[in-house]
Amino acid sequence: MIVISACLAGVNCRYDRGHNRIAAIEDLIREGKALPVCPEQLGGLPTPRNPAEIVGGDGDDVLDGRARVIDNQGRDVTQAFVQGAYQALRIAQAAGARVAVLKESSPSCGSHRIYDGTFRKQKKPGHGVTAALFRRHGIRVVSEEEFLAALEAGRIKELLGE
Ligand code: SF4
Repeated sequence: MIVISACLAGVNCRYDRGHNRIAAIEDLIREGKALPVCPEQLGGLPTPRNPAEIVGGDGDDVLDGRARVIDNQGRDVTQAFVQGAYQALRIAQAAGARVAVLKESSPSCGSHRIYDGTFRKQKKPGHGVTAALFRRHGIRVVSEEEFLAALEAGRIKELLGE
């Protein structure tokens, strides 16, 4: 079983009530191979919600208490992001997932890049909170960009370890 960011399956769970639907990811759910999760909704945040960024580090720093997640109105939403990450992990572990396909650049789901905490649309290298927690628990995290590249190259089974 694979865990995927719910917005990649067309669920309107993004902060602006949008989604990032990828047809091939929806197919995985239809085939019973993938479970969609949205850590920010699982953490109790509403949809729509204010956009948030990690200030002072990345998802690993948030988990270690060295950085905070702050929304664009200055509200500290760290607790919701961490709770949502643990709820998503609980689902992933219950399903026996060893791989997750998560939305790049999100403060929860980003696996290579995240926004830099200035709300100026600038990115920096780093993991989102859920991506960092998954990795700590042995779940391999790949982005939708890696998924699409593997799909294009005919290497999807290799990427997902099937
Ligand atoms: Fe998508 Fe993850 Fe953001 Fe939810 S938390 S909207 S699944 S990127």
